[in-house]
Amino acid sequence: EKVIFSGAQPTGSLTLGNYIGAIQNWKALENDYQCVYSIVDLHSLTIRHDPKVFKASCLSFLAQYLACGLDPEKNIIFFQSHVIQHAELNWILNCVTYMGELNRMTQFKEKSERHKDNINAGLFTYPVLQAADILLYQTDLVPVGEDQRQHLELARDIAIRFNNAYGETFALPEIHLSKVGARIMSLQEPEKKMSKSDDNVNGTIFLLDSNDVILKKMKRAVTDNENSVTYRDEQPGIKNLITIYSKLANCSVQEVEEKYAGKGYGVFKSDAAELVVESLKPFKEKYEEYMKHPDYITNVYKQGAARATEIAEKTMKDVKEKIGLV
Ligand code: ATP
Ligand code: MG
Repeated sequence: EKVIFSGAQPTGSLTLGNYIGAIQNWKALENDYQCVYSIVDLHSLTIRHDPKVFKASCLSFLAQYLACGLDPEKNIIFFQSHVIQHAELNWILNCVTYMGELNRMTQFKEKSERHKDNINAGLFTYPVLQAADILLYQTDLVPVGEDQRQHLELARDIAIRFNNAYGETFALPEIHLSKVGARIMSLQEPEKKMSKSDDNVNGTIFLLDSNDVILKKMKRAVTDNENSVTYRDEQPGIKNLITIYSKLANCSVQEVEEKYAGKGYGVFKSDAAELVVESLKPFKEKYEEYMKHPDYITNVYKQGAARATEIAEKTMKDVKEKIGLV
């Protein structure tokens, strides 16, 4: 059976970008693959955080994964920090990764630009821990957004280098991207990707935003003066809203263009805003329900960690033998 691995950092709360770019795909894969979905809490430590707030958002994230419809029986859902092999393999892979490779990572450049007072070593070696996450499970496919392409290529390079040096150890992971929606843009700066850690919260729709807030953010989305609902690079704001619409209404980009041909932005934006609100309603209801059952949440992540550990242990045993650790 082919293996899928993916994850999200539990900083803040899931966004429409995370949902459309990644989690919608995770759900679609759960019947055909062994899917391993992690809440990568160790990755979150690269950004300064308040321990109490962080702990609460980690638990909230698990409820959000479940509310997105991920079935904890079919999928292995767990916290990265509960499976110690992630940190263990991270160290070993650090020793087969070059500084020059990490220096080229655009996410590091972008995040260190934004957190000038906290350019820590973890932020720099973040992609190595991510490679460990993926390679531990002998992953075949990694459903992520376009922004993770560079990290995934590095994970492959690391795996190839390790396999060449010490013998076949890791499966080579491939990226799995959606044709449309692999890069949802900020509603305020449509040339930038939507991010949960964006300082301008008006650019980001959080899945848990109230209906009013969603309507407001959607209606204030930056567009242009063309007043024509067409999907083209010259109109990045409108292009982004069409993408969101088509993914949530489960229709093609052309269908959206046809539906709004000759109509102005007012109608389109207001329909798109309603669509986001309606699409997230079931999610929010399920979320509230899961949050009322902390024992269930605990069971899910404990069982997930046990299942993940079983696979991770096998890989680590092999890795240690291959590199000659006694
Ligand atoms: P942060 O700002 O903390 O990095 P993020 O929104 O980038 O938050 P991550 O936890 O880093 O979220 O990523 C989780 C998943 O969501 C990854 O697969 C990533 O590629 C995907 N993703 C993130 N942002 C977008 C986006 N704007 N469009 C599509 N996919 C996205
Ligand atoms: Mg990110």
